Amino acid sequence: MPELPEVETIRLGLKKTIIDQKISHVEVLLAKMFIGEVSLAIGSVVKSVGRRGKLLLIELNKNGEKGWITIHLKMTGQLLFRSKTRAEFGLGHPIPPLNTPVPNKSTKVIFTFESGDVLYFNDIRTFGYVKALTELELKAEPFLLSVGVEPLSEEFTFEQFEKLLKKSPRLHIKTFLLDQTKVAGLGNIYTDEALFLARILPTRLVGSLGEDERLRLFEAIQEVLRAGIELHGSSKTSYVTVDGATGTFLARAAVYQRGGKPCLNCGRPITKVTFRGRGTHFCENCQT
Ligand SMILES: [Zn+2]
Repeated sequence: MPELPEVETIRLGLKKTIIDQKISHVEVLLAKMFIGEVSLAIGSVVKSVGRRGKLLLIELNKNGEKGWITIHLKMTGQLLFRSKTRAEFGLGHPIPPLNTPVPNKSTKVIFTFESGDVLYFNDIRTFGYVKALTELELKAEPFLLSVGVEPLSEEFTFEQFEKLLKKSPRLHIKTFLLDQTKVAGLGNIYTDEALFLARILPTRLVGSLGEDERLRLFEAIQEVLRAGIELHGSSKTSYVTVDGATGTFLARAAVYQRGGKPCLNCGRPITKVTFRGRGTHFCENCQT
């Protein structure tokens, strides 16, 4: 699943290409993938592209009225932008390959703009979704009501992080970090990386962390996410940027998918275990 840096990379791609564009047509190829009325989108102009956690928020305007398209890529979603005049891009899960001609059998929703540009939402396993929402409906969206703090926002302070940690002393720290209702946007990659950087074992209980560890973790979360965004996400999941370059974060990952390879810090082999159903990577020597 894409994590915060990958979705942020997609957001930046969309921001460069679809703002001020008018949607002239929406074709839904699999009814369950589009929730709400297509008529809300048709004739609307894109005003902004935002993000909360892993959810994309596309703000629309139609005759002065605000509307929204939200997109969640979940496990296998892709967004492909095709244009004769602007830089094209494909972002998301690597299957089918992002250069496969569109539409193809994984294409579920097609947005056509007045300019002739087209945005394809592909999802081979159909876990993702597109929603068309009014302003009122957006405010009542369960995801938005429950999603946790945005870790790269000003609201994410050490004081607030401490409060969140204090509420869940019995959770394993990895489980805590993956919970989208606590801190938004972290998945398996950035969780393992942040815990390595903070020198904390993923199996530790939240309540056992000392203040210095909590502070290191607070800083590490932001550091790995910023690095991920800078490097356009992870190449493993083929996040091809607007310019066609793939994400390079994984080449810099210290522990994720480096099981058995030498720790970049101490040289001992990185341990890989399955922890609560998730592949989990850490250094037994550097993390305590
Ligand atoms: Zn080590």
